[in-house]
Amino acid sequence: MEPLPTLVQTTPINKLATNSSVHVSNFNAIRNVKHIQKFQRRLSLENRKSYGFKHQVYIGVSTLDSSGHPIKKVRVANHSSLVTGFNLNDFSWPSPNDEIAFWKKHFRSWDVTSHYVDNVVKDTDVMHIIHVTAEMAPIAKVGGLGDVVTGLSRACLLRGHKVEIMLPFYECIQKQQIEDLCEDGTYNSFHNGNWVSIRAYRGAVSGIPVILIQPSNHFFKGPSVYGGSYNELEAYLFFSRACLEYIQVYGTQPDVMHVHEWQTGALPILYWDMYHNLSIKKPRLVLTIHNLEYYGECRVEQFSMCGLDGSFYATVEKAADDRTIGHNPERLSLLKGGIVYSNAVTTVSPTYLKETLCSGWLASTLIRHHEKYLGILNGIDIALWNPATDVFLPANFHEQNIEGKLICKHYIQRGLGLDPECSVRGGCLQHNVRKPLVICITRLVAQKGLHLINSAIQHIQEIGGQMVLLGKAPDARVNHEFEYLASVYNGGCNIRVLLTYSEELSHMLYAAADMVLVPSMYEPCGLAQMIGMRYGAVPIVRKTGGLADTVFDMDDQANLDKANGFVFEGIDEGSLKFTLERAFRYYKERSTMVVAA
Ligand code: ADP
Repeated sequence: MEPLPTLVQTTPINKLATNSSVHVSNFNAIRNVKHIQKFQRRLSLENRKSYGFKHQVYIGVSTLDSSGHPIKKVRVANHSSLVTGFNLNDFSWPSPNDEIAFWKKHFRSWDVTSHYVDNVVKDTDVMHIIHVTAEMAPIAKVGGLGDVVTGLSRACLLRGHKVEIMLPFYECIQKQQIEDLCEDGTYNSFHNGNWVSIRAYRGAVSGIPVILIQPSNHFFKGPSVYGGSYNELEAYLFFSRACLEYIQVYGTQPDVMHVHEWQTGALPILYWDMYHNLSIKKPRLVLTIHNLEYYGECRVEQFSMCGLDGSFYATVEKAADDRTIGHNPERLSLLKGGIVYSNAVTTVSPTYLKETLCSGWLASTLIRHHEKYLGILNGIDIALWNPATDVFLPANFHEQNIEGKLICKHYIQRGLGLDPECSVRGGCLQHNVRKPLVICITRLVAQKGLHLINSAIQHIQEIGGQMVLLGKAPDARVNHEFEYLASVYNGGCNIRVLLTYSEELSHMLYAAADMVLVPSMYEPCGLAQMIGMRYGAVPIVRKTGGLADTVFDMDDQANLDKANGFVFEGIDEGSLKFTLERAFRYYKERSTMVVAA
């Protein structure tokens, strides 16, 4: 037995299985992981507090009626019928015929740093944390990953930690949103037998320091974050090594390197088997799995491009894709490698943690590493998602005054050419009819329940509601299917199918909506339902993953104290329709329940 090392783990994790120091190293690794776990757990609790998770704008609660009897109360956005706080004579209402669509006009810039929450308790054990990620909101966002990286970083900054985010300098990155952007220097990183020159830039995005990695080759060029005309797997493999190379060249020693998804799954391997043996000694590695379906399939020789011998990792214990073992050729999975080589692995909700331990080919790996695997519920960034200060909204509102929400609804209805439920009279909005507006904002991929979204469009029209779908389909066939729906419905006055990505429009829709639909087949966490709740929209969700952890049904007698939305379990259209009808009944029958949430 080797002498007990005085410092934390000295043996790269990949050697543990064969090395005689396995127990010592394991113990040290676990001790260290525990430290990280404690930190993560505290953070998540704090997040949920500071993200307003317990205090969302509209949480359905059981309260007493005037005679002292409990009434079930969904705090739907049933505004008073008369909006008086705004002078609507001065309002310029949009129209579908506007030359520039209302969500594409210029918005004033938004300094969310001025909305930092005061009285956040600072941590005493301050750490230096570097996130390494493919997405960051709002400069390079495709889905929830971008939101979470930004929100988590801001939460850690507020608690006194030093936080930096490293991401590729995509050609399409929204440079105008990066403050103090300047070149930090040039250095080289290895790729496929050559050293590639890199420019590193520094700046800040809504107060969060960023380090942008710009290789001199063709990687990360193109009009969108993903789907460029370069090999994505090779590009992110290169990026993972380039980040470590940067840290080595600049001599930093962060406490935690937090990597996300398959794109950065190779970084823990490169760290323990290469850079930790060079000069980066201090960091411990945390991997967050935001979606296990994307696992970074990689050929052995492709992996070798990063400078490590890919064949060394083609075993069940390391990075082999278990399903390909014995086949020709065998494959690796970058995500699996990340799971094996990280000190702690988190996923984004407790229910998704359980689901991933029970199904899917990576379950056996996660079970093997269950001691370091945690399910921590995501939160949202309440500075970026704040209806009281949101610059994209035609009128702001908050818990104590929701008049602005009715204006947002009227604005969207007029701008998209939907039947407005109010008219403007004497500078005020006056209700004529009541039509619940349901929104669905999502990537249009199979995971999101495409057949249910499709069926909701039809059914909501039939039962007297309105629906706006804002979605982008990466797959041409799916895009075609929804284009067809757009051609059928967009001429009418109740449904809009908008096949685009727009951050600005998404904010306006959350603000305008009465209900937000998330009918996913599986959902690791889901942010749309949380953002919806923060903007006063009641969630209608399928009971899966993080949706099951955040939305509780109004009619579930066992959970009345938590009830805040509508939940269904089946994947069939009948279950969805029944739930939509229940939600609509609440909306209509309880329309007298005007709330100041
Ligand atoms: P996922 O990460 O699987 O895409 P989440 O619900 O976790 O799903 O996060 C989705 C995020 O992306 C939310 O902030 C949502 O508002 C946003 N989003 C999705 N599609 C669009 C779109 N077409 N336009 C604008 N925002 C979108």
